[in-house]
Order: sequence, then C-alpha cells, then structure tokens
Amino acid sequence: MPRNRESKTNRQKRAIEVVTRLTALYPGEQCLLEHSSPFTLLIAVLLSAQTTDAAVNKITPELFGRWPDAPALATATPKDVEATIHSIGLYRSKAKNCIACAQKLLGEFGGEVPDTMEGLCSLPGVGRKTANIVLTCAFGKSCGIAVDTHVFRIAGRLGFSTAKTPQQTEADLLALYPQQYWSKINHMWVLFGREYCQARRPRCLACPVADLCPSARLSA
Ligand code: SF4
Repeated sequence: MPRNRESKTNRQKRAIEVVTRLTALYPGEQCLLEHSSPFTLLIAVLLSAQTTDAAVNKITPELFGRWPDAPALATATPKDVEATIHSIGLYRSKAKNCIACAQKLLGEFGGEVPDTMEGLCSLPGVGRKTANIVLTCAFGKSCGIAVDTHVFRIAGRLGFSTAKTPQQTEADLLALYPQQYWSKINHMWVLFGREYCQARRPRCLACPVADLCPSARLSA
C-alpha cells in the first residue's frame, strides 16, 4: 500500500473502515476525565496536559469540592490551588492557567463556559485540542478533531497525514473524514494508542487494523 500512490477515495475507504472497526472495539464515546459540568471538564482537560487521566481524576474531587465553578476558582490563590494539584506535572503553570481561565470566564462569559471554538480558544491555556474535547464531550458539538499525541502518531502511521503539527494533522483528518465521525476519533484513538499502537513498540501483530496500515510491522 504505497502511500503516495493511494487515491483519495481509497484512503477515505480505509479511514472509515479503521473507525468502523475501532468503534466495535471501543463502543461508547465517554470521556475518561471525570466531570459534572462544562466547567469541571474544561479544568480537567487543562490539568491533563502531559499527565494521565487517572492522575487528574485523583485530584479533581478535592479541587472541585473546594472550587466547583468559575466564580469560586476565580478567587482562589495560586498557592492553595498548587497545594491541591501538586501531584501532577506542571502544577504551578496549570494552577495559574486554571485561575486565569476562571477569571476570564467570570469577567467575559458570565461565569459560563462558552460553547464555541472561538470563545474557548480565547481562554488562557486553551488551544484547539482542549476546545475540541470540551465542545464534543460537554456540548455534543463536532467542530473538529482533538489531536493529542496519540491521534498525531496514529494518523501518521496509518498514512492519513504527513503533517508535522497537530493543527495540520487535524486539517488533514477533517478533510478525510465526514463530520459524523469527528466526535468518535479522539476517544477511540487514545484507547487504541494505549492498547495497540503504542509510541515505542506498536503491537502490529495483534493490531485489529494491521491490514489497513502502511506502517504495519508484521514480521517478528
Ligand atoms: S499495524 Fe502497527 S503501526 Fe499500524 S496501526 Fe496497528 S499497531 Fe499501529
């Protein structure tokens, strides 16, 4: 399956077959970050950068117990928030961003999380990846595809993108997949990336989409 000679039609067929198989493997679209509102999801996603979802889920009950919404978190001190989230990486900058984010929500959005890409991306520390997750999981809106490290790697290995940046990878995937698939991709590719298409040692021999993958290593 030489990548450069593949027609767009064939690539689209492969892409849809990949999602069809992975949907069967990972049914449901639930977000792995525990949350009870758009605000708690937004903060949980901000905290999850370069940290596992499990580590974030350990600290958010106390965090949201103390500061459950934007008006509450906007008045918190960085020192108090740092003490609550210090078990995760980059906790100092994350505490600063979370408070700044809450203050901006309070000052410009009436304390509510906006449900638009533009509004979300105007918040401190929020880029398209975070905004896409919030739009999909909190508001049920498919405005794009959240490209994290798993989606970036898998898109490259499957020959769906040769881009060097998450932004361009997202553009390639949006051009490849009809919109009805966008909301499924991040969640299922994260699980697939953890279970099969791992960064260092992809498990190609056991991979459920190996026959669709130009990067498959099928000899032991
Ligand atoms: S065949 Fe290997 S490289 Fe390709 S998607 Fe599967 S695990 Fe990843």
